[in-house]
Amino acid sequence: MDIKFLGVHNCESKETKCISLLIDDILAIDAGGLTSSLSLEAQQKLKALLLTHQHYDHIKDIPALAMNLFLDGGTINIYSIAPVFEAVTSYLLDGKLYPKFLETPPAKPTLNFKIIETHQMVTINGYKILALPVGHPTPTVGYQITSPDGKSLFYTGDTGPGLAECWRHVSPQLLITEVTAPNMYEDFGRESGHLTPSLLKQELAQFQEIKGYLPQIYLVHMNPRLEREIAAEVSAVAASMGNEIKLAYEGMQIRL
Ligand SMILES: [Zn+2]
Ligand SMILES: [Zn+2]
Repeated sequence: MDIKFLGVHNCESKETKCISLLIDDILAIDAGGLTSSLSLEAQQKLKALLLTHQHYDHIKDIPALAMNLFLDGGTINIYSIAPVFEAVTSYLLDGKLYPKFLETPPAKPTLNFKIIETHQMVTINGYKILALPVGHPTPTVGYQITSPDGKSLFYTGDTGPGLAECWRHVSPQLLITEVTAPNMYEDFGRESGHLTPSLLKQELAQFQEIKGYLPQIYLVHMNPRLEREIAAEVSAVAASMGNEIKLAYEGMQIRL
């Protein structure tokens, strides 16, 4: 399984992109930094887009992607839970801002939205996908993605503390989770459903206790203004847990 980190921040600027991950060039997760990271040809290769939740930094490229696919005669399946479908179709894809790509062209609409249920394994383009709820202000799911050759990752999406219930259902070799701000923002993290390095440490300790191991760990969703402090605090967590924890960067590519 080939994983590309297209966008790894919570803010977009010349130097940073919002969240998007790409698996084996065909499966995208979240659409915060998708179109600006992929050539038109690469966008046409996409088969499916999984959305963790409805926040703008995770969905904003859907209209741009739809227009590109439409002009090239392509289509894509978008998967998420029902509340995300409701929000995205009511405010972003309702036809007021751009063509209604869920119905255009009528014979073969560019976008096909498929609702998935939490805790139910589905197969999407040969990958086994398990959506699990995480703690965030709007309904949010993390995804365990298992490739046809048995490699497995879990991406939490945006999440606050309280991942123990998720850990019971997954056994990934690779964990991609978020750290949005440094430790001094712990109250903000708890209120807004995000992790700091110290909150992450507690979640990882529970992972180790429940699963008996720690996976490879990559972090995303950093606030670029605070990234230096986050990196320093994350290295301290990694050292204390005896496990490597890496901050992902735009364009980073790893292979499982
Ligand atoms: Zn969010
Ligand atoms: Zn976010």
